[in-house]
Amino acid sequence: MSDEPAQQIIPRIWVGRYAAITTPGFLEKNDIKNVISVCPCEDTLTGYNQLVVSILDVAEENIMKHFPETNQFIQSSIDKEENILVHCEAGMSRSVTIVTAYLMWSRKITAKKAISIIKAEWPSASPNSGFFMQLGIYEEIDYTVDQQRTEYRRFLMANMAEEREMHGYVAEMTLAADPENAAKQGRASLRCKKCRRVLVDKDNIIEHEPGKGQQAFSYHKRDSSLHISETASSDHGEVNTVAQVNTSLNPLLASLATSKNNCSSYFIEPMEWINGLDQWNIEGRLDCPRCHTKLGSYCWSGAQCSCGRWVTPAFTLHRKQVDEIKAVKLR
Ligand SMILES: [Zn+2]
Ligand SMILES: [Zn+2]
Repeated sequence: MSDEPAQQIIPRIWVGRYAAITTPGFLEKNDIKNVISVCPCEDTLTGYNQLVVSILDVAEENIMKHFPETNQFIQSSIDKEENILVHCEAGMSRSVTIVTAYLMWSRKITAKKAISIIKAEWPSASPNSGFFMQLGIYEEIDYTVDQQRTEYRRFLMANMAEEREMHGYVAEMTLAADPENAAKQGRASLRCKKCRRVLVDKDNIIEHEPGKGQQAFSYHKRDSSLHISETASSDHGEVNTVAQVNTSLNPLLASLATSKNNCSSYFIEPMEWINGLDQWNIEGRLDCPRCHTKLGSYCWSGAQCSCGRWVTPAFTLHRKQVDEIKAVKLR
């Protein structure tokens, strides 16, 4: 392994440590004119085309939302036939994740393949577990970071719940589009029983496996499956066993069919029409946006369905307050 602060991965793209921009002459020697700094750094490089992505190397950071911008920045450097350096502090996690995303997007390859290309030249490449998971989701959403994609919205939802738990508030709230505004005819949906107002599309309903234990969306595990933690509680409320069940299906949508017989609630995504959702409230009512009938409730730290399953976060609609409208085939 070289002592160089950065290494060329493929023609024109370099990845490296912070020292790459502080080592005198390093950029000049390697004819690097473009720099992406993936760290909260004050330094602005004069005479260089620099993009600063101010994020920490922690699993909870949403690094994925920066991919469209960083991909374009890297691509435009290449199109100009100029060299580009992507660096962070240690050159292990943040910078490597950004270059991995670029390789995935530009070559339509898997995260694993892209990381192996980087590792061949830069053995310390090692995205943190949360970034690794996000690269997996990026693959699933076909390299298109878009809130139209259900998998991406599920990631944002889990991310917000985690942020709430860690910091006590949600800095940036991303809510699912109100289907009333984009009425897609003929789609399955839920309506308010009283006033018939459309509340959610089928895509906004989060299926859960009926039964005891917890179900949460976690992205901090190093493999690309959803982990369902089965917890059995003793009479004293102590957790006796924790077994992780990996599903090999689509991790987000494979959360299995809801039993209509045992579940009193639909679990939905945080929706635009929910009143009183702000970054501080941990729980509240879900009222119909039209007739104001109470339809359910929400709690960022989770809630238990009548089937026994805990779901986190929990945005619930009581079955008896809503009607399920089946998809209609349009000719
Ligand atoms: Zn249930
Ligand atoms: Zn209503």
